[in-house]
Amino acid sequence: MKILGLDYTILRGPKVDESEYWGRHNAYDQTIKIAEGITKQAAESVMLHEIIEAINDRLALKMEHSLIYVLETSLYETLVNAGVEMGPLHPDNIIIGRRPYHAIKTPK
Ligand SMILES: [Zn+2]
Repeated sequence: MKILGLDYTILRGPKVDESEYWGRHNAYDQTIKIAEGITKQAAESVMLHEIIEAINDRLALKMEHSLIYVLETSLYETLVNAGVEMGPLHPDNIIIGRRPYHAIKTPK
C-alpha cells in the first residue's frame, strides 16, 4: 500500500519481533508487520496505528506513542461507528498490484 507516496509491503507473522507489540512499522525497508492470530478488529486497528506511525516518521511530527494510540483508537471507533467498512484496511486484504500478501510470512 502507498503511504505518502512510498510503497509499503505488508507482512504477517506469528510475532512482529521480540516485543509484545501486535504491529511494527519499519521506515528503512518500508514494511509494516502485523501479528497473526489477532482478531479482525484488532488487525484493522493495528494497521491504522502503523499507518499513523509511518506518517509520524516521514513527516517528522515527533508525536508521542501515547498520542498515536489516541489517534488510532479514536479514529477507528469513529469510522466504524459511522458505518465505514474497514475490511480493506485488514492486512490480508491489502494488495500491491495484483499480488495479495496472504501467504507472506515475516522472514525469521
Ligand atoms: Zn506504535
